[in-house]
Amino acid sequence: MSILVLGGAGYIGSHTVDRLIEQGTETIVVDSLVTGHKAAVSKQAKFYQGDIADRDFMRKVFKENPSIDAVIHFAAFSLVAESMKKPLKYFDNNTAGMINLLEVMTEVGVKKIVFSSTAATYGIPDKTPIKETDPQKPINPYGESKLAMEKIMHWSDVADGIKFVALRYFNVAGAKPDGSIGEDHNPETHLLPIVLQVAAGTREKLQIFGDDYNTPDGTNVRDYVHPFDLADAHILAVKYLSEGNDSTAFNLGSSTGFSNMEILKAARDVTKKAIPAEVAPRRGGDPDTLIAASDKARDILGWKPEFDDIHKIIETAWKWHLTHPNGYADRN
Ligand code: UDP
Repeated sequence: MSILVLGGAGYIGSHTVDRLIEQGTETIVVDSLVTGHKAAVSKQAKFYQGDIADRDFMRKVFKENPSIDAVIHFAAFSLVAESMKKPLKYFDNNTAGMINLLEVMTEVGVKKIVFSSTAATYGIPDKTPIKETDPQKPINPYGESKLAMEKIMHWSDVADGIKFVALRYFNVAGAKPDGSIGEDHNPETHLLPIVLQVAAGTREKLQIFGDDYNTPDGTNVRDYVHPFDLADAHILAVKYLSEGNDSTAFNLGSSTGFSNMEILKAARDVTKKAIPAEVAPRRGGDPDTLIAASDKARDILGWKPEFDDIHKIIETAWKWHLTHPNGYADRN
């Protein structure tokens, strides 16, 4: 049995490939390398460069690897702000990409998919922590594109019996503790890597987008989870489907929220740097608070996140940042 990882050269995909290989699973990776990095992919995985929307290419991947039993799908665009400006790019790449993928999976008879969904499918929650059964009302095209993907998988399951697990991640931060793989986006838009760029002196100052939200210190509150723990959740989700269980969704978070100001303070503690910051206008599409109720993943999948301390998460990201100040460019 082997696993096909789509988007396996991306931030979370590459950590999952790494874990699969460590566990001795035969792993095939597809990535367009539009946002991913070849250097992030374990050399022990079989790698194909291509786009999942290219059906002939995907047919070839499945044909050449008849042992593929399940797909883990990370191949999507994921920037809220960009999606507000370019919604069609998100519906095309993410949502239409899913339709192509499910059609090819149906043709070749691969019936299990674990999918990277997002807390952005919930929009502005009526209450926190957010449960999987809470209403999904996205407030940005990124969240909407992923909600549509969840719904498409549901109807594909009803019609064609393709079983899915949608993993709704909250915020992801950190790197492999040995510093060998980590987060590298270009341009970088995420809070923690930007904070660390300022700490390292490669960016002048942090802009905190809005301090007038309905939260204790006025800055957005987010729930951070480490990619190592996310990787484990994906592997457990494949096992869950292999045991014949029904399609479902799980939230993946730590169930603890940190405000943007608290992240800045924790990063100052870890890095021992001043990290200059200023308050800037709100960014479009940001809900006040996003905190996961993730008991369902713990109870049903047996998920036990190891990184439950934000300082430890930041330490791993800082190690990656110090050893790769220019990201994977250092390795190419
Ligand atoms: N943020 C910020 N300054 C930045 C980047 C992000 O204040 O330079 C805020 C952003 O508005 C949000 C939080 O940090 O409140 C997390 O944003 P990020 O882009 O890291 O993740 P998202 O929540 O969009 O997935």
